[in-house]
Amino acid sequence: MTKQWQEITHNIKAIYGNKDIVLLHEPTFSETEIEYVTDCIRTGWVSSVGKYVDEFEKRLAEYTGVKRAVAVVNGTAALHIALKIAGVQANDEVFMPALTFIATANAVSYLQALPHFVDVTEQTMGIDPVKLEEHIREIGEINNGHLINKWTGRIIRAIVPMHTFGHPVDIDALIDICKRYNLVLVEDAAESLGSYYKGKHTGGFGLVGALSFNGNKIMTTGGGGAILTNDEQLADYAKYITTTAKIPHRWEYRHDEIGFNYRMPNINAALGCAQIEKMNDFLTEKRQLTQKYQTLFEQIDGVDLFIEPTFGTSNYWLQTIILDLDKHNRDDVLDVLNKNGTMARPIWTPMDELIPYMDCPKGDLSVTYELNKRVINIPSTPIRVGKSTHE
Ligand SMILES: *Cc1c(COP(=O)(O)O)cnc(C)c1O
Repeated sequence: MTKQWQEITHNIKAIYGNKDIVLLHEPTFSETEIEYVTDCIRTGWVSSVGKYVDEFEKRLAEYTGVKRAVAVVNGTAALHIALKIAGVQANDEVFMPALTFIATANAVSYLQALPHFVDVTEQTMGIDPVKLEEHIREIGEINNGHLINKWTGRIIRAIVPMHTFGHPVDIDALIDICKRYNLVLVEDAAESLGSYYKGKHTGGFGLVGALSFNGNKIMTTGGGGAILTNDEQLADYAKYITTTAKIPHRWEYRHDEIGFNYRMPNINAALGCAQIEKMNDFLTEKRQLTQKYQTLFEQIDGVDLFIEPTFGTSNYWLQTIILDLDKHNRDDVLDVLNKNGTMARPIWTPMDELIPYMDCPKGDLSVTYELNKRVINIPSTPIRVGKSTHE
């Protein structure tokens, strides 16, 4: 087994032009980033005011096909505010996949609400709508128009689907559940900029959605995020509450509720304006990389590449392999890959196994546990077209 994975490591390195260390995901910059950021510094407006924030928000809304985008300091902050303006309150429960990055659960906790973990499908690694419905039938009852968790007495307010590694979940089935059980849909689209469900961009299906532009995401603003919505009033409120809830005035400091200082600085937005111009290139390059990995892993018994569902188009943000445990052991594979300078990581620890979230309500999570033992992310930096020394 070791020998086989040493050879695979060698082949991955070859895809990346035989670099000594191949990282999981590096940002890709060019002259445009330097130009816009330099311009931003020259104007002196690097922080809370400036033309790049407005421009970036405009381009984001255009790109994702929503009415409005509000740029904020990071994806977690975007989720926090998205949930807040969607009406999540203290002591509510919020459905989310147990297989996600911890930010999804943290954002719910910031509102003194509780994550309620549900299982995922092997096909999308996102929420399993069929299993969710079964779980709701078992634990839920409608009371005063609210879905109540019979076991805890709490209101279940919302569902937060997450598009794992860029692969869209079956969102229509979740929208249907939301309608029937009076739940609000808040999309965690942090990983899925450039991903589409039935031809429509992810992040715009729910009442509110959240994006992340962290350094390891498909495009970056250094740190950053955005709130997406088709509701103008909610967008205005999101803008207001992420900019300290200040009532506009020429000089007075008047704030009529407790706001947040979550606004994206202008200098980060300058970087974002340059990066979003490259999204099409990134998507093409990601797909080319997927093809290379497909050729590589087709020949390996017991390893499947994670491929987009038929109903959607993935941005292939993180390249992912799924192991057959009869033939490969996850930690042995991780050991060989990392030891030889090819960075690889397992999928997240299920949320209910983490100390802060052990006591949260949850459904049956058997697929989550199974995938946790089988899924590995491998190097995913887009290879610049024409720049690969491999060919
Ligand atoms: C990256 C990510 C976030 C949070 O983004 P930050 O910008 O790092 O705060 C939220 N949810 C998921 C699923 C993510 O992958």
